[in-house]
Amino acid sequence: MAHLMHWGALSQPAAKSLYFDYAATTPVDERVIKRMVECLGREGLFGNPASQSHPFGQQARAQVEQARSQVASLVGTQPQRIVWTSGATESNNLALKGVARQHGRGHIISSQLEHKAVLDTLQQLQSEGWAVTYLSPDAHGAISPQAVQQALRADTRLVSLMLVNNELGTITDIARIGEIVREHGALFHVDAAQATGKVDIHLDSLAVDLMSFSAHKTYGPKGIGALYVGKRAEGRIAAQIHGGGHEGGLRSGTLATHQIVGMGEAFAIAKTEAALERQRITFLRERLLRALRGLPLQVNAASAERIPHTLSLTPDRDIVLGSTLAISSASACNSASNAPSHVLLALGLRPSEALRTIRVSFGRFTTHEEIDSAAAEIRRAIELPIP
Ligand SMILES: *Cc1c(COP(=O)(O)O)cnc(C)c1O
Repeated sequence: MAHLMHWGALSQPAAKSLYFDYAATTPVDERVIKRMVECLGREGLFGNPASQSHPFGQQARAQVEQARSQVASLVGTQPQRIVWTSGATESNNLALKGVARQHGRGHIISSQLEHKAVLDTLQQLQSEGWAVTYLSPDAHGAISPQAVQQALRADTRLVSLMLVNNELGTITDIARIGEIVREHGALFHVDAAQATGKVDIHLDSLAVDLMSFSAHKTYGPKGIGALYVGKRAEGRIAAQIHGGGHEGGLRSGTLATHQIVGMGEAFAIAKTEAALERQRITFLRERLLRALRGLPLQVNAASAERIPHTLSLTPDRDIVLGSTLAISSASACNSASNAPSHVLLALGLRPSEALRTIRVSFGRFTTHEEIDSAAAEIRRAIELPIP
């Protein structure tokens, strides 16, 4: 969902617009920027973390390992379980292709609600001979443990589901589903790109074997992510990028110290501030919903368990929003195409409803005033007489 709806001319000053697209990406927190800059210049920690024969490399390595601990700490696991990647897209590719190519052939269970980084990867694996079942959401808009249970086959090797949906904000019951998958003996991969800092994650008490993370959805930089590789997944996942044998041979390439340090700092901040931030954002959501009350629009997946940060709203007719409100249209998640969102269609929305759906997502830097302005803008658009 990268495109902006009814965005004005490119020359328009960005300062005038209201940013309500936190689910697409977040600004980098100033504290994170400060730590990243320290890693770049001649005076900084610019050494190659793999150069262990001199202090430049040793200091960079120490920073990388501290960041690994910070990421591990937010999600309740040990640092040695974290593998650096370029983002959640790569983590998803490594998890799915890594497991599939280590196992040869078999069956994978996923869902119709997944991000393209999972769906497109699964499509590739289907072309390589894998069978994939795409579960449909239940009446609430969530993937139920029962649906997973019923889809398991003798040759099911892997189940891949997202923790928080990027369009709807729905939360998947990965605790219960993990137990079912583990009992069966398959591996369980979870895309948690939208979840860090928004829901508590305790990997050491979850039956999850692989989990994907991204920094830029949690106030860190773009281009850095991580994959959690649990004990049961060890040796059952094949590297997808070769050369140099970094990260235990699972993902080669010189470690991007500044990116990694940025992700570590961003996750450390999330660890200390997430609970309060969630409270504040819940208030903001209530304020927005109050301001929109009475308007002819529906909140999608309203009865499902959801994070407060992301709202999917479908007005009962087409609306034209002003160019000051930066939000995602539901069609935009299919990038260049104008196709309706596969997620909303899976929920049972008609294509016309899916096309006029808007995703309003907010976060750390959103103010009450911005919420009021966004609500006023949406209200104005909906109450505008039909031409
Ligand atoms: C953003 C996102 C991704 C992709 O993450 P990148 O780090 O941008 O590659 C994958 N899955 C979900 C659910 C996302 O929201």
